[in-house]
Amino acid sequence: MTKRILTQKQTSHTGSRSDQFQKRTKIVCTLGPSAQTPEVLSELIREGMNVARLNFSHGSHEEHAGRIRVVRSVSEKLGVPVALMQDLQGPKIRVGILPKTGVRLETGDEISFVSTDPGASGVEKKVFQITYASLHTDVKPGERILMDDGLLSARVVRVRGKSVVCKVVDGGMLYSSKGVNFPDSHLSVSPLTAKDRKDLFFGVQIGVDAIALSFVKSAQEIHDMRALIRAAEKKLKIRNSLPILIIAKIEHREAIEHLDEIIAAADGVMVARGDLGIEMPAEMVPLIQKDMIEKSKAAAKPVIVATQMLDSMIRHPRATRAEVSDIANAVIDGADALMLSGETANGSFPIEAVRTMSRVIEHTEATLLSEANTPPWVVAPRGRDEAIAEAGVILAREAGADAMLVTTLTGNAARLVSRCRPLVPVFAETDSARAMRQMQFSWGLIPFSLRRCKTIEDLLTLSEKTLKTRKSLKKGDRLVVVSGEPVGVSGNNFVEIRDVR
Ligand code: PGA
Ligand code: MN
Repeated sequence: MTKRILTQKQTSHTGSRSDQFQKRTKIVCTLGPSAQTPEVLSELIREGMNVARLNFSHGSHEEHAGRIRVVRSVSEKLGVPVALMQDLQGPKIRVGILPKTGVRLETGDEISFVSTDPGASGVEKKVFQITYASLHTDVKPGERILMDDGLLSARVVRVRGKSVVCKVVDGGMLYSSKGVNFPDSHLSVSPLTAKDRKDLFFGVQIGVDAIALSFVKSAQEIHDMRALIRAAEKKLKIRNSLPILIIAKIEHREAIEHLDEIIAAADGVMVARGDLGIEMPAEMVPLIQKDMIEKSKAAAKPVIVATQMLDSMIRHPRATRAEVSDIANAVIDGADALMLSGETANGSFPIEAVRTMSRVIEHTEATLLSEANTPPWVVAPRGRDEAIAEAGVILAREAGADAMLVTTLTGNAARLVSRCRPLVPVFAETDSARAMRQMQFSWGLIPFSLRRCKTIEDLLTLSEKTLKTRKSLKKGDRLVVVSGEPVGVSGNNFVEIRDVR
């Protein structure tokens, strides 16, 4: 029966992937110049995008607001919920604005970094602006400076006043605003910069569903961010809305040291492999990825695997075999979502990239799920809600169900079902539009929304009817329901089998 659902792609009633029935692992696409028109965004959604990421390391508020408007209208038109994730730059250090064509750094060149804008003449003299004022007090001779994801590197030779003089070790083209990492130095950067605070306020105001914080080092920073979000909501008089999810981007040595407390404090995490693989030896990243996924699943918090998943598709229409393998392995690891960055934001093949990612996910899942003959992935239940969710997943398996239906006010009950990685798709009913979008981060959840119902029987009957109309269910399908009575009260308290009539 699982097979029937998973091979539906060929027989799908819409002929597109937009009903999201096929794949369980979600896709996050970064918006940008290559992904911002209604035409392209419609295609990205049809090909499997679930979450739109707005990268606040680039672009103005107006540009982001424009893209948000387009996502919202296209998502509405297609009837597919898309979550908006604002990604705050955090204390990421970058080079300043350079000529559009970039600047060539030759190996062996002497270059300098200063925190003030040296102007165009500085570029000729190989003096570059860096977005970190105390660099000269924090770095020492001999330490490495890596640029553009480590493609270019230099070593500090001496510090002269406020200027850090370096020798280029690995030359290449340096472009505007590229990131710079200091894996050997201890920097005294603050976790939420003034820009982050301004951006966060903008995000709360425009109503993003999740905010990701870069370079998190401790749980305290997550708590501080939550307080900032609340303060912004208060100032903006936003009441009774579901809390914005906080996604901790794990990309620093210190975050790995505090991983457990960060997962506990955040609502989700990102394996931010780009910076993580520079801040730490890159060979450690694959096992860290597995460990992070395991821990996040146990905590029922979505985990996103990010960066370079289809890097070559920024330039070429076909993925490398290694990239295909990386996607499949992230699915096998059990990630909730996989992320595309430059592939969609400024690549030449954004639609092809999402299509490729969806295909690899679907094929890997189809095989994994049809061959799964082990009990569902189970963690020790910790309370009633966890136990009910797990019981539903076990029942669905034992009773040969075709799908599950979970009712949820906030999305939490559905996330508890998702963490057990059930074999069948999980339709998640909620009357909150934000909960619906937020569930797009979680493995296997297909969120939908209904008008408010008075009794639970009405709610379940209407759910069945709606899913039948959408051709997600048909007569004779077996449904396992995880729900609660009375309606509107948080927390589920029963599990039942319903055969669709
Ligand atoms: P970034 O984060 O793209 O914002 O740098 C992801 C990563 O570092 O992998
Ligand atoms: Mn990063």
